[in-house]
Amino acid sequence: MDNCCTEYQIRIPLHLMAQRTIADRRGSISVTKRSPKSARPRKAAMFQRHAWDNGYESAVSEITEIGREFYSRGWVLGTSGNFSTVLHREPLWLAITSTGSDKGHLNPPQILEIDETASVFRGEGRPSAETSLHFAIVRGRAAGAVLHTHSVWSTVLSEQRASEGGVSIEGYEMLKGLDGVSSHQHREWLPIVENSQDVEELAQQISNTLKENPKVHGFLLRAHGLYTWGATIAEAKRHVEILEFLMETLVRTGSTVARPRRVGL
Ligand SMILES: [Zn+2]
Repeated sequence: MDNCCTEYQIRIPLHLMAQRTIADRRGSISVTKRSPKSARPRKAAMFQRHAWDNGYESAVSEITEIGREFYSRGWVLGTSGNFSTVLHREPLWLAITSTGSDKGHLNPPQILEIDETASVFRGEGRPSAETSLHFAIVRGRAAGAVLHTHSVWSTVLSEQRASEGGVSIEGYEMLKGLDGVSSHQHREWLPIVENSQDVEELAQQISNTLKENPKVHGFLLRAHGLYTWGATIAEAKRHVEILEFLMETLVRTGSTVARPRRVGL
């Protein structure tokens, strides 16, 4: 009866829906429910509202700013690269750049809110072509954000060191910018994964690589670019800056043909 009921609105992703009414253009559904005045429906409504208010707006501004900075450094030219941050862990939701977007001039709709099936709930366009790689890294590392660049340095280094299966970096003070590293004597291994246009196969390859190399902070796709991650998007951004610095140093000093000096071995 209406006089004993509380009316409230909740928004539920399609894949979680038990009851469907009106689908809006973003692929979510507005449902009007009537239920007795009790704590239970209020709690349910609060949970749904919390799940919906998941940091998407701040993710948009952080990703936009990172795109601008990385573009100015020449790391994501020509619509290359892609970025994501975790909005909700279980079920897994990401904010991720749309495919083909200019990372130096991202508009808010080009940062999409997607669920674990890559269905789009906010934003316009399709998710990055490499979305499966982001999922593989988030799941494999419990990462909070994943950033991918296409710099000259990562492209050169990943091609020249491909036969070695990775790049060993040690002796540099900047290594201390990587999470958990406290000495320049740390040896960082940057695996190189063969590039492929079969993204699902590539995602599986990356999952395997992460299992085989549990301590790495990133990896290279051959003649393609760098992937790194962090517990937060700020940490992932720092990792990009550190690894790009180190790769540029190796290339500029000719360390692509001679290994960087070894210390403390
Ligand atoms: Zn790429």
